[in-house]
This record gives sequence, structure tokens and C-alpha cells, in this order.
Amino acid sequence: MPYLMSLDEGTTSCRTIIFDENGKSVATAQHEFQQHFPVPGWVEHDANEIRDTQFRTMREALKLSGLDAADISSIGITNQRETVVVWDRSTGKPIHHAIVWQDRRTADAISKYDSPENQQLVSQATGLRLDPYFSATKIGWILDNVDGARAAADAGRLAFGTIDSWLLWNLTGGSVHATDISNACRTLLVNLKTGDWDDDLLALFDIPKSMLPDIRPCSCNFGQTEPEILGTSVPIGGMIGDQQSALFGQACIETGMAKTTYGTGCFLLMNTGNDIVRSEHGLLSTVAWQTEGQPPVYALEGSIFMGGAAIQWLRDGLGIIDTAPDVNSLASSVPDNGGVILVPAFAGFGAPVWDPYARATIQGLTRGSTAGHIARATLEGIAFQVVDLLRAMEQDSAVKLSEVRVDGGAAASDLLMQIQADLLNRTVRRPCVLETTALGAAFMAGLSAGVYTDQQDLTRYWKLDREFEPTLSEQDREQQVKQWHKAVNRSKNWTEETP
Ligand code: ADP
Repeated sequence: MPYLMSLDEGTTSCRTIIFDENGKSVATAQHEFQQHFPVPGWVEHDANEIRDTQFRTMREALKLSGLDAADISSIGITNQRETVVVWDRSTGKPIHHAIVWQDRRTADAISKYDSPENQQLVSQATGLRLDPYFSATKIGWILDNVDGARAAADAGRLAFGTIDSWLLWNLTGGSVHATDISNACRTLLVNLKTGDWDDDLLALFDIPKSMLPDIRPCSCNFGQTEPEILGTSVPIGGMIGDQQSALFGQACIETGMAKTTYGTGCFLLMNTGNDIVRSEHGLLSTVAWQTEGQPPVYALEGSIFMGGAAIQWLRDGLGIIDTAPDVNSLASSVPDNGGVILVPAFAGFGAPVWDPYARATIQGLTRGSTAGHIARATLEGIAFQVVDLLRAMEQDSAVKLSEVRVDGGAAASDLLMQIQADLLNRTVRRPCVLETTALGAAFMAGLSAGVYTDQQDLTRYWKLDREFEPTLSEQDREQQVKQWHKAVNRSKNWTEETP
């Protein structure tokens, strides 16, 4: 039987999952890596640590599976998107820590570009918006703040990549510098229509073309691994950004199908087919995926920066739970939020509000408020953000979703999923395999290796675990959403007003 190895490089951990051809996981290895917060609002990773951790999980998963590297037909890579690594082409060494997608250090740089003409240029060309979330200003920051970096880049000595490119470069022993279109289109430097680097945007953000990787479809021949990594060389046949990979892994292959992933952040994506749907309500247009020889499939996307990470903050920042799953019993210790609202704008607001200067707030505290209320308000804060995304998406697409498929670590929480169904007033459907991000990349690798003949093949592997039906009355729901929006308004512009 052919096996596929999926490298799922997330924001907080590296995971390798080996799937059989039926999409069944046969072995998983996972390790967290360190988060660096050198200054409030900054988030960095050590790219070497990511590489080493990822390679370690590859070897461990292979060992656990009892397979030989020669049994792996192909490797697929999926990854945290937008995160920037700049490295020296001759030494292969990063010249700075990776700047992570959540990092807000370039908020001021972005405001310098912020004119109606630039907004128009960026949104028309990229489907995105001027925001520090995307890669362009993070690359600029490294070039302007690391000694000699700009001169080295101009001389062609530096390479830029998102984490997919960084891993590919290292897997192939520095012989392939490439990315895929689903990752490339998140840099703010790619034209959605041409699928290529855009000269006007490169000029606007002052990024030398010599640094950039080749852009390829998500499913194609990306190269071979160096033999010493797994014992024998294995082809790399898939590469796709994590959110698009989850959409693919959830088998949302028809136009109008949507999924929400509850990982570090939360991401709602809807397949819009071969059409680029432009958002009027603060969402992004993005490439969902492209298989070799086919036109790209596009998606509308709503991105929230703090989803499950808000639960991690309860654990690491506030210390009111020991593990993330403990949030569920703590939140269940109270019948409702007791009037407490937590707005999780810890890294500013993403879609649809887009405010890098916003900060998280806890509102409505009384003497009777408990840790239970804060835990419940945290779950609700995650779910309310998704409500705003879904409403924006339905307006933009003119599609009323009958169901939303869910995945990601925090989708394991039955309580969060029930709160979500109640606040969305939509059926929430959770599949048996929550690792759909890893599965999507494995599918991509399987397509290029000929394990699957076409995308339709993939739909038979989607199996329902549990469905959550809405139970809240419309009046209660709208009342709560109104309160939420009042609370959101109070979190806006926080650091500008309170330096
Ligand atoms: P990523 O891929 O972004 O690193 P994951 O999909 O692995 O993230 O999800 C991790 C998140 O899920 C963590 O932020 C954690 O708080 C949350 N999480 C994991 N298990 C549970 C659970 N049982 N209940 C609620 N949240 C959970």
C-alpha cells in the first residue's frame, strides 16, 4: 500500500503524520517549539529550531509506523503562512529569527504606505489589504534592521521564504528554492490574476526580486529529500498553506463549501471556484489551491489572529488552567458568562475589523465574576469572532451556508462547538479526522504521486464525527451579538490612544 508523509508545521508545533492511501493516520509525532516575544506585540521563531523539530518528527513518525522511507510515495508540506525567514544562500543560515504572522512590529511601516492609491493597488492585485499580518513589510523590516542585509540582498546573496520554502530548501540540501501559489499569494507581493510576483508591489515594498523563490502549483514535483534525512531519498510532491490545506482536507472541493479551523488563530475559508470574489466586508481573496496543469481555485477568507491561542493565554498568561482542555470543565462550572465578555484582540484585530492597534479586553467584571466566567467568555470570544466572519462572508458571496465544517485543535471542545452553533445559528459538523490540515497536504502529495486520480477521489474519506445544532433563540442571539459589538468597539485603537 502507498503511504504519504505530511509535514504539518504549525505556529506552535511541528507535526508529522503518515497516512495510508485511505486517508487513515498510521503514525503521528509532534513537538512544540519555542515562541519568542522580545517586545510586546512582537512574535518570533527560531527557523533552525523549526527545521530541527520538523526533521525530528519525520524520523519519529517513520519509526512509529514501522515503515521504511522507501514505503513513502511522496511528502506533502503544510505550514503556518506569511511567517518570514531570510537566509544566506551560501551558508543556509537565517540572518534573523523568523518574524511570525501574528507579529505587529510593522504596524507603523504599514501606515506609511496607507494611501487610497496604495490600498487600491494592493487589494486589486493581491486580494489582501495593507496590514502587518502579511509578509512584505516583515521582509522589509529584516532588510532594514539587520546590518548589511539590504546590500547583501541587492547583491543576490539572500533568500526569502515562508516556512514551506525554508523547509523545502533544507529538505533538498539547499538545491531547491521554491514555494507554492497558496503560500506565495499571502506575501502581499503576488498578483492573484497572473499568479506571479508583481513588479509594482516589489517596487512599492522595496523587495529585491533576487530574494524570491520560484512559484509552483501545490501539487507537482518539488524535488527529493537528501538521503541522510530519512535514510533514503523521498520525493516531495505537495506544498500548501495550512488554511487552504484544511479546506482541501475537509473535501470542500465544490464552490460554496466552507470550513473553520480553530488552531492558534481561527480561519473561515469558502471555496469560490475559479472566480476571484472580491470582498466588500473586510475579508480576503486568496488562492485556495492549484494542481498541476489546472487553473487555480480561489477562496474567500476571514482570518482571526487569536483563537485557541486565547485558551493558551488562560493557561500561560493567567494561569487559571493547567492544560488547554481544562478550559472546558472550568467554563462548564458556570451556567453562562455572568455578563463577562472577553475580546481576544491580543494581537490586534484581523478580519473583518482590521486594527493592529486594538488590544484584548475583559469587560463586565463584577465582584461575583469568577475564573469560570472568564473561561466561558474566552470560548465565546472565539466564537463571536467567527460569527462576524460568517456574516461578512455570506454578504460577500451571496451564499447562505447551511453548515460549517470545523477542524483544528480547539474544535475538539464540544462546549466551544455548541456555543459556535448557537451563535452562528448554523449546523456545525466535525469530522472524525481533525487533522485535516495535514490530510490536505498528504492529498496534494498523493495527487502528484498518482496515488489519487482526481480531487473527487478525496470526498469519500470525509466522515462525520459529530454534529452540533443551534438551540439559542434569535432574540437571545442577537442581544448577545449586540453586546459583543459594543465590547469590540471598546477594544479598538487601544495602543494609539493609550501609548
Ligand atoms: P496550530 O496548528 O495553529 O499550532 P492546533 O490546531 O494544533 O494549532 O490547535 C492548538 C490549539 O487548540 C491550542 O491553542 C489549544 O489552546 C487548543 N486546544 C487543544 N485542545 C483543546 C481542547 N480540548 N479544548 C479547547 N482547546 C483546545
